[in-house]
Order: sequence, then structure tokens, then C-alpha cells
Amino acid sequence: MELDRPLVLATRNEGKIAEFKHLVADFDIEIRSLKDFGPIPPVIEDGETFEDNAVKKAHFTAKVLGFPALADDSGLMVKVLGGMPGVHSARYAGEDATDEANNLKLLKAMEGAVNREAAFTCIIAIAVPMGPSLIYEATCEGVIAQELTGTKGFGYDPLFYYPPLGKTFAELTTEEKNRVSHRGKAIAELKSEFDKALIWLRQRLADEPF
Ligand code: IMP
Repeated sequence: MELDRPLVLATRNEGKIAEFKHLVADFDIEIRSLKDFGPIPPVIEDGETFEDNAVKKAHFTAKVLGFPALADDSGLMVKVLGGMPGVHSARYAGEDATDEANNLKLLKAMEGAVNREAAFTCIIAIAVPMGPSLIYEATCEGVIAQELTGTKGFGYDPLFYYPPLGKTFAELTTEEKNRVSHRGKAIAELKSEFDKALIWLRQRLADEPF
């Protein structure tokens, strides 16, 4: 299965680029990322849902560059906090907040909370410049720990306790985390359906003037 033009990953994050390139390694498709293009205006991630933001990033990138694009958006939703930090996960403790500041703010917000249920969600969107997008979604349920544990991973990993493995995400190897995480599962779902996604992309692209 091939595509007659590149698919652009709407990110500059090396980790994500490597992860997605690995995902499509078996397919005859050229992958580029924002790092292969000159500066393009940043997308304002002001959506109310992960899906809004993923679609916005994928659409905007496809429109500006004229190639089909793939974007993801993810974050942590805590039940007792009404779904916060949610789409604000990266900047929960303020613009440019560090992971540590976000974790400390979350711990404070959870002081005394008995129900500590939480879930990570990841949405992947594939878009062409016009029309609808393809969406893949996965979640991973866990519990907000009483203290930070573990040094691996990033973001809220030291506070996200995953009961089936009896550890926080920050105590898991990358392979262990990818097997169960929201992003790992969304990528696995996309991979299992990638041949269908390519057929969809070819049809959408045939309908659009470039
Ligand atoms: P992004 O928009 O997918 O880059 O993720 C937004 C934010 O959600 C990150 O900055 C993290 O704070 C949080 N997040 C998303 N995925 C994870 C994860 O796997 N572990 C820990 N934090 C995560």
C-alpha cells in the first residue's frame, strides 16, 4: 500500500517522530515532520477536547503545507477534579510550566481526596486540507498516587499509578509503558487499520484539488 505524496507528522517532538516512523515502517510511504519545513505559524491549542486540538493541528498543517497530516493530542483527566487538567495538562501550573510544577499542583489539588481515579487519553487525527478527519482514540485508567514515584517517562508519569502492574508509569520501561499506555494503544489501533487509513487518504486526496 503506497501514497503518492508524503504524510506530515504535525510535531517537532523527536520522541513522537521516532514513534510514528516506527509505526509506518512496513508501509511504502514517505514520512516528513514539521522539522523538514521552514517555520510555519504555531497552532493555538485552544480546543475544549483532545479531539478538537488533534483535528485542529492536523488540519492546519495539511492546509499550510498542502500535504496530508497526522497529529496527536493527549492529557490526563482526574475524576474528582471534573476532568482537569484535561486539555490543560501541559500548562496546568501556568504557561511554560515544568512537569514538576504540574505534578506538585496536582498533588495539592488532590489533598484529602479519597477517589483518586484518573485516565490518560490520546487522540490521533489524520487530515487532508479540506473535509473530515480520521480519528483514533485510546485511554488508560489508573489512580493518582499520594507521592511522586519513579524517574522514567515524562509529564504526570510519577503520579500515575497503574494498578494492573502495581507501579507508576515512571517506574515502567518504555516497552512496558507502550504496551498499556493511551498513546501506545492509539498507535496500535492506527497500525492495525493503517491500510484502511491509506485507502481513505487516497480517496480524499483524489477529491481535492492540489
Ligand atoms: P501532548 O499534547 O500530547 O504533547 O501532551 C500534553 C500533556 O499531557 C503533556 O505535556 C503531559 O503533561 C501530559 N501527558 C500526555 N501523555 C502523557 C504520558 O504518557 N505521561 C505523562 N504525562 C502525559
